[in-house]
Amino acid sequence: MNFPNRPVEAIEGWHAHVYYDPDATKPIAAGLRARIVEAFPDTRMGSWHDEAVGPHLVAMYQVAFETHQFDKFVQWLAVNRDGLDILVHPHTDNAWNDHIIFGFWLGEKLPLNEERLKQFAVRAERDGGVQAG
Ligand code: ZN
Repeated sequence: MNFPNRPVEAIEGWHAHVYYDPDATKPIAAGLRARIVEAFPDTRMGSWHDEAVGPHLVAMYQVAFETHQFDKFVQWLAVNRDGLDILVHPHTDNAWNDHIIFGFWLGEKLPLNEERLKQFAVRAERDGGVQAG
């Protein structure tokens, strides 16, 4: 495999995507969301998405955080996710790499819209850095 190694300085920030089932685990996701806001007020909480959005095929909300927050926040998520599945991925200059190659999962690995990510990645290379999802 030709792995697209990048210097750590290429990481501009991070996302944690917290997935849930709108008909089943949304209250659990709401509880986790409240605890994140309380424990990590410097993270940036995104909107609820009960429908597929961007490359995400399962309902989720996004938590954006900075590289210096990674250590404490990701360790906390690892032991506080209440059974929810979470994708943690960096932001570099290529959305495909970020979500498919560089990202990692807490819990189960869920499908992403890979075609959409390929489009984002192609656009990013053409325009010099478009961020998505
Ligand atoms: Zn993201």
